[in-house]
Amino acid sequence: MLNTQPKVIERSVPGQVTIQWGDDVKHVFLAAELRKVCPCAACVSETTGQRTHDPATVSVTLEQSNLKLVGNYALDMLFSDGHSTGIFTFQFLRRLGDAKS
Ligand SMILES: [Zn+2]
Repeated sequence: MLNTQPKVIERSVPGQVTIQWGDDVKHVFLAAELRKVCPCAACVSETTGQRTHDPATVSVTLEQSNLKLVGNYALDMLFSDGHSTGIFTFQFLRRLGDAKS
């Protein structure tokens, strides 16, 4: 069973978000990396499921701020390109982190 409950969420470095999960696995996400996979309706078509936001437009130096919990299942944040409508569920983040490690 995949552990999708964060123990520690570290947001003090503007260019990244670090999550230590309940099973002590730690994932470091670049803000740019999260922006590229933003699952919100402005970035992904709700009807076709196709990404409408071009990941190539995301600066590698993108920063996050205003990171906060959504209920007890997700995070949202403000990206330095002004985008803030993405909700990143813990399950989504855990899968994303596991996929690259
Ligand atoms: Zn989005």
